[in-house]
Amino acid sequence: MKEFDFVIIGGGCAGLSLAYELETHKKLENKTLAIIEPRFEYRRDKTWSFWKVFPHSFDDCVKKSWKSFSINLPYKTKHLGCDNFLYQTIDSGLFYEKINNKLKENKNISFFKNINDINLDNAFIFNSVSYFNNDKNNIWQHFFGVEIETKNNYFDESIFNLMDFDCEQKNSVHFFYTLPFEKNIALVETTWLSKMDDNSIKDYDNQIKNYIENHLKIKDYKINYKEEGAIPLFYPSNIREKNKINIGTAGGMTRLSTGYTFLNIQQHSKYIRENIDNIYNTKIFEIDKKYHFLDKIFLKVLEKNPEKMPNVFYNMFNASTDTVIKFLSNKSNFLEDLSIILKMPKLPFIKALLKIND
Ligand SMILES: Cc1cc2nc3c(=O)[nH]c(=O)nc-3n(C[C@H](O)[C@H](O)[C@H](O)COP(=O)(O)OP(=O)(O)OC[C@H]3O[C@@H](n4cnc5c(N)ncnc54)[C@H](O)[C@@H]3O)c2cc1C
Repeated sequence: MKEFDFVIIGGGCAGLSLAYELETHKKLENKTLAIIEPRFEYRRDKTWSFWKVFPHSFDDCVKKSWKSFSINLPYKTKHLGCDNFLYQTIDSGLFYEKINNKLKENKNISFFKNINDINLDNAFIFNSVSYFNNDKNNIWQHFFGVEIETKNNYFDESIFNLMDFDCEQKNSVHFFYTLPFEKNIALVETTWLSKMDDNSIKDYDNQIKNYIENHLKIKDYKINYKEEGAIPLFYPSNIREKNKINIGTAGGMTRLSTGYTFLNIQQHSKYIRENIDNIYNTKIFEIDKKYHFLDKIFLKVLEKNPEKMPNVFYNMFNASTDTVIKFLSNKSNFLEDLSIILKMPKLPFIKALLKIND
């Protein structure tokens, strides 16, 4: 069986981002890479969005960028500007196509469907396949979204809605998220932050239909695309083995309080590429530890006081919008962290801090 210098397990967002980073920086001219990916065809399956807090290689896969957004509670709305950090949405279909076309040019890169098809003995492995234990106490961000096309123009495509909490909460945290791509096309998602033990909140189809028809008051529309996902708001076990590094969600690249992962994956890919010549001795790459700590407290408050969370998110944006964006994108400094912390309700956060290790 064939041997390779590098093996990437999982050709999804993290696996392909890493392969692209290595290929475009000429790290695969004299090295071989195998990518293990079971899917038979690549097509749009996810919509990745984030505030662009640093440059990345995928501006040509951006479906739409926005300079303003809103956040709603019942009877209250905040309109906010993000001129300094555009909010971008990447179409995963374009991303897969761009990367796969590039990788095809290098005969040192091969794709396999099954890991048993190659010999792993002398390879360095980058693994993006996550294994989770079934702990019922884990909190997930789970969601379902549809891209709709309306008959008449309905949306203001210059502003997206980050969180609309004007909906049933069911003792969890629930909001709708709307990305208007054109005046008559938008992605509408129902999103929950909760444990996975309550099946009554998983009737996503009804939630979406009800929101579109009775809240947005759109009757005449068709669904062009659907996506569903569950992002773990806890870290999978991520032990640095001698010949293996975990990447992507499996490598702890998800920011726990937000689920944002895409840009962290890009940063991790760059870090690996910079250290590829000494990869066996390279230290693990992590999201800054202060965010681990702050997010742990945040999720504790969320677990104990879900009813407070719509106000917590809303009031967070009383701080300067740039500061909140930097905080949510792990790019804030100490003073910026402090200005966010001061916007939080004191008692639940102090209680959560005291019980951080429970
Ligand atoms: C629907 C959805 C929307 C999201 N939206 C956002 C967003 O807006 N912003 C953001 O920052 N993050 C978002 N995320 C979170 C995160 O960015 C994505 O989950 C991202 O795809 C994570 O990349 P990954 O490579 O870790 O996992 P994936 O992209 O899921 O890649 C894993 C790959 O492994 C393959 N695989 C599975 N089993 C095996 C196996 N046994 N052997 C080999 N390969 C295997 C899979 O087919 C897949 O291609 C979203 C997640 C989902 C699910």
